[in-house]
Amino acid sequence: MKEYVVLDLEWNQNPYGKETAEESLPFEVIEIGAVKLHERMETTASFSSLVSPQVYGELHFKISEVTHMTMEELQEKGRPFPEVMKEFEAWCGKEAVYCTWGPMDLTELQRNIAYFGMENPFPRPFLYYDIQKLYGLFREGGKEKKALDTAVKELGLEEDRPFHQAYDDACYTAAVMKQLDWEKAEPYISVDYYRLPESRKEELLLQFPGYTKYVSRAFDTREDAVADRRVTDMVCTQCRKTMRKKIRWFPSGQKAYICLAYCREHGLHKGKIRIKKAEDGRIFAVRTIKPVDEEGAADISRKKEEARIKRNERNRQKRQEKKKNKKEEKRDT
Ligand SMILES: [Zn+2]
Repeated sequence: MKEYVVLDLEWNQNPYGKETAEESLPFEVIEIGAVKLHERMETTASFSSLVSPQVYGELHFKISEVTHMTMEELQEKGRPFPEVMKEFEAWCGKEAVYCTWGPMDLTELQRNIAYFGMENPFPRPFLYYDIQKLYGLFREGGKEKKALDTAVKELGLEEDRPFHQAYDDACYTAAVMKQLDWEKAEPYISVDYYRLPESRKEELLLQFPGYTKYVSRAFDTREDAVADRRVTDMVCTQCRKTMRKKIRWFPSGQKAYICLAYCREHGLHKGKIRIKKAEDGRIFAVRTIKPVDEEGAADISRKKEEARIKRNERNRQKRQEKKKNKKEEKRDT
């Protein structure tokens, strides 16, 4: 039987700013809260534990402001992270399907696990449900990322507990989750990017209703990533055949590329590559492919033209600057 673990964390950060923070642990977990839901979304168990901080000896003022916790309370009632995490892991069980509000909690949890030298207990690939994303998709029909308390208000759910305490936020997240049409939402699983595929073999191709998502392994540079055929090949969402490109990949903004391809049987498809930074500073690519109609295709042509104009303008400015510098050099000599 499927079991969902809806979790939420509170964390602390260096009270003296990023510059002097412990590089591998920007956020130290100070509380883990979770509820378990079974397949029919009934709550079956709960977990709540404070963590006594080992790295940052004071609470950042923002953290004490929103969580209403004090360092004394944490040191007194909390236990060290490894102890709490082990207990939490056992409580979750091996089959748990994790759900969180946004992707941050899982990243920070795994950073804490690594920092304290513990073995990462999560499956690989680590698939989870981002309830914030699903709320945006199915309640708003858009991509807007809302705060948990906003969603709770919008849904008119009972606000019978404070926000920004891990266990209470987990309860609220679960309450939002229960409001979603889960049959519709269930296929839209998210991939955790903390640990990337390590080889070509581990690279992921996920099929969603209406689109596919591919997650590459890490590359040393962006150039290496976009030179890789597995990253740039446009594969039809239906027949999985490699499609012919009608508009080749072109840059769209700083961190993305777009292209248009055509399958004889299944028509036009839009491709998008997003370049992302891996935990170790390397680069990886997330590519999505989805069918588009003529209007969608025209939109891609337009974007390409805009990108071309911008590029030309940049080049023109560069040439002018060069000329100016040369002139100044001449004058100086
Ligand atoms: Zn096809």
